[in-house]
Amino acid sequence: MKIQGNNSINFGWSCETHRQIMSAAIKDLPQFEKYRNTLEDYVQRPDHDDIGFLANKHFYFGEKIPEKNFSNDEFVKESVNLNKLGFLNTPVANSVTNIFKKIFNTDGVSFMDYNGRNNAKAAYEDQIEIMDTAIEDEDEEFAIQNAARACHFLQDITQPQHIEETSTIGKAVDLKIHTDYEKFAEDNLDTFTKNCQTSNTEPRNSMKLFADNFTATKELGKITRENEPNWNEITQKQFDMAVQSTKEFLQNVSIQMGLSKNIENTDNNTTDNK
Ligand SMILES: [Zn+2]
Repeated sequence: MKIQGNNSINFGWSCETHRQIMSAAIKDLPQFEKYRNTLEDYVQRPDHDDIGFLANKHFYFGEKIPEKNFSNDEFVKESVNLNKLGFLNTPVANSVTNIFKKIFNTDGVSFMDYNGRNNAKAAYEDQIEIMDTAIEDEDEEFAIQNAARACHFLQDITQPQHIEETSTIGKAVDLKIHTDYEKFAEDNLDTFTKNCQTSNTEPRNSMKLFADNFTATKELGKITRENEPNWNEITQKQFDMAVQSTKEFLQNVSIQMGLSKNIENTDNNTTDNK
């Protein structure tokens, strides 16, 4: 992700990288050729639309194991009033703790994940839901737009800095390395595209794709100055993962929309939706 301007503390794949990943993904999927422009356009859009607070939804740290509340009956009783005010249904002391936890980001799955939905996984799910509805409504264009938007979040999770858990302050402190890495990825896009390797496997379902990308990226570890000599190798691996998952995602979309895999038959295939 990249937010326009240089006053942003966000970082990640640039819009151009998202576009290239999409382009590489549809290389082997001729049924999407006619949607190329829409796909390449809309895969970038979340970075332009989600600015300010919403930009934090391009990050995902993984689910947290809920901490045991140090609750007891008295505290539970006192919490009733807070509940009425819309606070959490936890004890008073914990409510205060939880507010701080939100601010300092110890519980959210993204930066400032104030409502539990301001994160990449929720954003991905939301886009898929919109896409599903559009497919049901046979609104092909809208379905493709939202498929591309979903792919954006799937791709974000292959960028190590998008899953690196830190506070908003930590993110600002690390800004230099983040922008350096983002620039590195964009500067070498041609190489990554040229050397990109994907396989033709049975497509995984959408949530498994997200989970697998997250796990693999997590295993990779952080982007640091120490591993800068390996950025090339790291980024190629992550680029390939982004392309592969995007490809599988679109294979599922193709089945769902009844698109013909055979480009020659695209116009007169009766199983085609449109
Ligand atoms: Zn993004």
